[in-house]
Amino acid sequence: MAVSSTPTRPEAPAAPAGRAPRRPRGEGQWALGHREPLNANERIKKDDDPLNVRARIETIYAHRGFASIDPQDLRGRFRWWGLYTQRKAGIDGGRTAVLEPHELEDEFFMLRVRVDGGQLNLAQLRVIADISREFARDTADITDRQNIQFHWIRVEDMPEIWRRLEAVGLQTTEACGDCPRVVLGSPVAGVAEAELVDPTPAIDEIVSRYVGDKQFSNLPRKFKTSISWLVDTPYEANDIAFLGVDHPEHGPGFDVWVGGGLSTNPMLAKRLGVWVPLAEVPDIWAGVVGIFRDYGYRRLRNRARLKFLVADWGVEKFREVLEKEYLGRTLLDGPAPELPDKPVDHIGVHRQRDGRNYVGAAPVVGRVSGGQLAELADVVEAHGSDRVRLTPYQKLLVLDVAPERTESLVAALRGIGLAARPSAWRRGTMACTGIEFCKLAIVETKARGEELVARLEERLRDFDADISIHLNGCPNACARTQVADIGLKGQLVVGPDGRQVEGFQVHLGGGLGMVQGQTAGFGRKLRGLKTTAEELPEYVERLARRYLAGRTAGE
Ligand code: SF4
Repeated sequence: MAVSSTPTRPEAPAAPAGRAPRRPRGEGQWALGHREPLNANERIKKDDDPLNVRARIETIYAHRGFASIDPQDLRGRFRWWGLYTQRKAGIDGGRTAVLEPHELEDEFFMLRVRVDGGQLNLAQLRVIADISREFARDTADITDRQNIQFHWIRVEDMPEIWRRLEAVGLQTTEACGDCPRVVLGSPVAGVAEAELVDPTPAIDEIVSRYVGDKQFSNLPRKFKTSISWLVDTPYEANDIAFLGVDHPEHGPGFDVWVGGGLSTNPMLAKRLGVWVPLAEVPDIWAGVVGIFRDYGYRRLRNRARLKFLVADWGVEKFREVLEKEYLGRTLLDGPAPELPDKPVDHIGVHRQRDGRNYVGAAPVVGRVSGGQLAELADVVEAHGSDRVRLTPYQKLLVLDVAPERTESLVAALRGIGLAARPSAWRRGTMACTGIEFCKLAIVETKARGEELVARLEERLRDFDADISIHLNGCPNACARTQVADIGLKGQLVVGPDGRQVEGFQVHLGGGLGMVQGQTAGFGRKLRGLKTTAEELPEYVERLARRYLAGRTAGE
């Protein structure tokens, strides 16, 4: 992979000689001279680079305990090392918006381990399983960004946890915070029959060059990336996405999309219209991150994602600034990628290009445990594999299985609660962290999701359509509310007795541009489309029965 120069940061425009510089009210763009700290988050980042907090955790906080932690570190900089305080048990969702942060938080942490490209080997899987059992009360969730998330972590244990993770090449660096988060990748990178270029070298180079690099550790907000040859990640929901495309003259390379993001004011990423060879992916990525750092809006937190800049500039200007100010060259125009004819989630048994198989299996709503992951490692090893992949749909894959051992693997996975032939409900349901641990949550999600899947499997066992159901504990849409067939946004709703209870606003018919003929779009959100959490299984069952009754042949 070519090594390239680092993108430069443009200087603020100089004031004419003899005149005091004019400071029009800006959006907090550094490149336009608006460098003053403009809100509490910007102040925290300016006062001390958040990456520096690692040393304080190891030398001070881990020895003196939770009470010794500086509040700015605790609620600000800790995130750059994957650490969030978790929600205190027993605080209902009605009090989320009323209480102060310190009243909501526990003395324990959620810890996110980044698994770039979703790629794990057996040694890494065993370390994750051991950490879960020793330090995280056996918790481990597969997130919808291919991370592993622990709960119940104590600050005292962080030096040992980092030592163990880093010994096998894992890290929590910039797993959260205003910085480049985990890079999504195809779970079948390097093995899929249909893949022309394995983008793993580009992911590895981005991570090794830029994660933990202080030139990108203070971005306006989080920055999400997806790099895959296949259309098997939710690419349109990322700040930058590279998708495989075969250029008629130049051959295999990548199509580039920018400005995607869900949460409030959702926007799907837009095509830049350029073709980029694999070796240039890291440079283009760094150029776009540079634009975000320098021109991104920092004044208001709720306008600080790249999507707002892309919406204001448009892709033409964005491409021009990227080429002129950050790359110093023009990019080649490129064709749009081809979409598959059906959704690709890799569940089940599939052939690799080397003749072996990979097997995709589903836990329920991404919830696993240290014990289960340890058993998984034994099963994987017993079937001659060393590779596991996590998917951005809270599922996992075992690679490199000999054809004659595949059914034995499927049975062994079933024995530890991982279904390679799951019901449509288990296969298509995801849930965010929710009120069990998340301080922003209004409703419970994981347990509700498990109950929902169980009830639907009982009542509509043979439902045969692809369906996606995404449960979210608040409007932040971490589990991509807006792009599911049934997107559920947690909120309080009026219960049967007139009192406020946990419930969901329902978004219907959303989706990403993942298959031919399907246009990406957000689900319809109608004011009356709400259900209490209690009635959710019946609500979804009614929707499913209505769909079955009304669907046309072949739908
Ligand atoms: Fe927490 Fe809300 Fe994100 Fe769920 S959607 S993990 S409740 S912030």
